[in-house]
Amino acid sequence: MLKFSFHSHSTYCDGKNTLEEMVLSAIDKNIKYFGFSAHSPVPFENDFGLQENEISNYLNETKQLKSKYKDKIKLFTSMEFDYIPIISQSIREKAKEYELDYFIGSVHLVASENGLWFTDGSKQETYDNGLMKCFNGDIRKAVGAFYNQTIEMIENEKPDIVGHFDKVKMHNKDRYFKEDETWYKDLIMQTIEAMKENNSICEINTRGVYKGRSNDYFPQTSWIKELANKKVRVTISTDCHKKEEVDLLFEECSQHLKACGHKEVWYFDGNWKPISL
Ligand SMILES: [Zn+2]
Ligand SMILES: [Zn+2]
Repeated sequence: MLKFSFHSHSTYCDGKNTLEEMVLSAIDKNIKYFGFSAHSPVPFENDFGLQENEISNYLNETKQLKSKYKDKIKLFTSMEFDYIPIISQSIREKAKEYELDYFIGSVHLVASENGLWFTDGSKQETYDNGLMKCFNGDIRKAVGAFYNQTIEMIENEKPDIVGHFDKVKMHNKDRYFKEDETWYKDLIMQTIEAMKENNSICEINTRGVYKGRSNDYFPQTSWIKELANKKVRVTISTDCHKKEEVDLLFEECSQHLKACGHKEVWYFDGNWKPISL
């Protein structure tokens, strides 16, 4: 099958390889369409996002690589925006300002009255401490805030791709809640409904599995089936942070999508297009 990935990181944010090393690896793995999606700058000190003073270098370098490798691969400039309502400007406006080809909207940080709950990263401890500090340990309130923030992002910003929408489960590991609890499933269904209504493309992200942080994709299999039922458009992303990861589990994921009832996946070549599974 035609291979692509529209979600990748580099040394401009928290990735391990340069943009060019990522491109060369993508070419080597026979990927035909590849998007650069650095973590967007966020207005506080951090070591994972693109720094404000690096934005123009990032945009220029992606442009140069596009033309340098145009006979071998189609490259696109994008960003994975953190949607944080209390401090973010419109991410859609930012994407327009930077002239991105498309943009990804993701929630990694959940807003609360007591600061931001960081739900991602490699440490379970960060998740647990943040849950306590920001939501006094109330998991339903915290997870509800995560999905409400995601729905608000989908409705207000209409990102082309909604990134790893159930990633809040990653560090849960069945400790605070089970994914078949009614209140949780209701939040998932509301999020899927919002994607349907806003014609979003939902990313099926393979990173959690190949990093051994999750035993299923983001989103997990039951939600992949619900996405098929509701005919929400999907794409496959590796969310690669180093060159060895550019196509990890791509083929397996496409087989899985087919088995879950999806007929097609969507890719970008200047416009979003379906390809049959
Ligand atoms: Zn992400
Ligand atoms: Zn990412």
